[in-house]
Amino acid sequence: MKKSFSVLSLGGDHIGPEVVESGLQILELAAHKAGIDIRLQEDLLGGASWDRHGRFCTDEVLTKARAADAVLVGAVGGPEWDDIVVDGPVTETDGLTRLRVELDVYNALRPARAWTPLLHNTPYRAEVVDGADILVIRENSGGIYYGEPRGSETLADGQVRAFEISQYLSGEVERIARCAFESARSRRNRVTSLDKSNVMESGKLWRETVSRIGRDEYPDVELNHLLMDYALFAVGSEPKKFDVLLADNLFGDLISDLVGMLAGSLGMLPSATIPCAARAGEMVRGGIYEPSHGSAPDISGRGIANPMATILSVAMMFEYAFARVEIARQIEDAVEQTLQRGILTPDLGGTATTNEVTAAVLSALRAN
Ligand code: NAD
Repeated sequence: MKKSFSVLSLGGDHIGPEVVESGLQILELAAHKAGIDIRLQEDLLGGASWDRHGRFCTDEVLTKARAADAVLVGAVGGPEWDDIVVDGPVTETDGLTRLRVELDVYNALRPARAWTPLLHNTPYRAEVVDGADILVIRENSGGIYYGEPRGSETLADGQVRAFEISQYLSGEVERIARCAFESARSRRNRVTSLDKSNVMESGKLWRETVSRIGRDEYPDVELNHLLMDYALFAVGSEPKKFDVLLADNLFGDLISDLVGMLAGSLGMLPSATIPCAARAGEMVRGGIYEPSHGSAPDISGRGIANPMATILSVAMMFEYAFARVEIARQIEDAVEQTLQRGILTPDLGGTATTNEVTAAVLSALRAN
């Protein structure tokens, strides 16, 4: 069993470094418990990198990220950098996008579960949501966000036409479909694939391809398809019925936010974005682990950011990058125990600080 791993930590902007500091404390203790050695490097990303180097993600950071077993990211962005105009593609204007594209992390895993102590923070009646546990598998490197051509032009009549195209190669759909089926095998064995195959050509390809991969390679996994518009209603109203939701880049973006309502706060949503399928017991090299939330400039520097999403992202790092699922579960249990004790940051209705929540999770993790 591998005993030594390299981790690159990129705090980013505003609350990013605050929550990453909490994540690193959990990483250190959990690694000690697991008997593994972490070689940690830290660097800048986003606005912090722009201020120092004039780029949102430098070549040096990319080199370090490619060499690392896992990358822990806080969050990037803020009003200070909103008006900066940089020539070139989105990879030049958004450091996190450059990192994701260069590492080819196409499999975005976005889990959302209802935490029993936080049910009152959700917009749901307890009986509708208690026990809900969904994993969104979002295709993260293709589709409408990256399809070419894209741009805008002024027409002869003076109107401006802006456009992009939604496109997928069958191989791109095949590989993300396998990711969803593999993840379902280590959960409740059910995949629901979302598309607009009734009106989109790329949606037809999506449905045909997912069906073929399911039929030929994963007959043991239950597969259903939903049109995206109805999916929002079905998942929103009966979340407990769903296990793994598979969606393209755009629809995955939308459904991730919807299922985020289960968790009670943006501060409770972790993510992993990895360059392959997650197979039980196999180590994944080169993934990015980060909270789903942004840099929250409105609360930055006040010490009240909820660190749980980052702590849970560290749990995902143990599960996927280090293949130590039992340590991941211990971190999740420590999070749940802390919530049960009512040690909550203000976004969850409490008065605890980031440091107090982190100390409580560390203490529960030590005892587990
Ligand atoms: P946001 O997620 O930063 O904040 C939305 C709201 O949720 C705010 O009220 C914020 O205080 C709260 N919130 C978010 N995370 C929290 C936490 N951990 N604890 C407590 N409260 C939390 O979204 P936004 O305000 O739309 O964006 C702010 C900046 O973040 C923008 O520059 C945006 O581009 C960037 N952003 C970055 C990422 C990323 O790095 N992955 C994702 C989304 C937005």
